[in-house]
Amino acid sequence: MNSENDLPPLEVLPRDISAYARGNTGIPYVHRFESGKPGPHVLINALTHGNEICGMVAATHLLDTGVRPKIGTLTVSFAHVEAYNAFDAQAPHENRQLVHNLNRVWSDEWLDGTEDSPELRRAREMRPVVAAADHILDIHSTSQPVDPFWVYPAFARNAEVALAIGRPSIHLVMPKGLGSGTPLIQHGRHGEDGGPAGAALVAECGQHFLQSAADMATQVSLDFLAHFGLIERDPAERSAAVPQRRFELLQTRMIKTPEFRFVRPLVGFETFAEGELIATDGDEEVRAPCDDCTVLMPARLPIVGREGVYLSRPI
Ligand SMILES: [Zn+2]
Repeated sequence: MNSENDLPPLEVLPRDISAYARGNTGIPYVHRFESGKPGPHVLINALTHGNEICGMVAATHLLDTGVRPKIGTLTVSFAHVEAYNAFDAQAPHENRQLVHNLNRVWSDEWLDGTEDSPELRRAREMRPVVAAADHILDIHSTSQPVDPFWVYPAFARNAEVALAIGRPSIHLVMPKGLGSGTPLIQHGRHGEDGGPAGAALVAECGQHFLQSAADMATQVSLDFLAHFGLIERDPAERSAAVPQRRFELLQTRMIKTPEFRFVRPLVGFETFAEGELIATDGDEEVRAPCDDCTVLMPARLPIVGREGVYLSRPI
């Protein structure tokens, strides 16, 4: 595991976003703009995790610069403001979530269930917002300073959009979902292959507190809106065509004991040969299930019940 000292500096800090609370939908921190013309309904969602502040930068950019859709409908939301407001610069990773992971509770079982938490209350409040969107961009960032990447279920409609935008240029595709819960981008019809759903993508924009992550979040948001025709975008602002790298998620390994340890410090995108030891978790071993096994999102700390590491392979 890594220590705080290994992490990059806090280049971007949270700021007071209470001015955005009112919105115009009756749901706090949700802003909607109708063009009055036919077209898709696109949702740009920030702060599903409280300390992933690049999304806040992108969402406030859209609102502050007065971006309005030429066609269809644009919704801009700040999801977990309660966790965001709990930020502590001395412990900047602590306010990812308060109780539950807001990005794993988007199944009917959780949303219709009887449990209660800040995340479940907010998910229930935002449920109609997510359900109403044709296309969803959910903005995230990573604890480690790795290259930005997309994450999406392996539906053709998702790959088509992510490849067309081409930035980030790395894709983590999930043929079987996450295996650890239902993320926002798989709520309802967006979790089903075929049918009337549009694209629903996560963009992991880089390390939480880097200016480059904030810049990436804003660029991807504008690219996403331009892709669906909601805004015009100067071609010079679009990313140059770069080779795309794609990985498929094989397994999500959960942390079962406080003794979970990687064999060496990992940040993500390290590769392991088939059978090679990646981590130990008490008596259990985590070994690479294939050659070129590529790890993503290695946990910073061994918190039991949370995700330890994603194992993927290049496709
Ligand atoms: Zn996240």
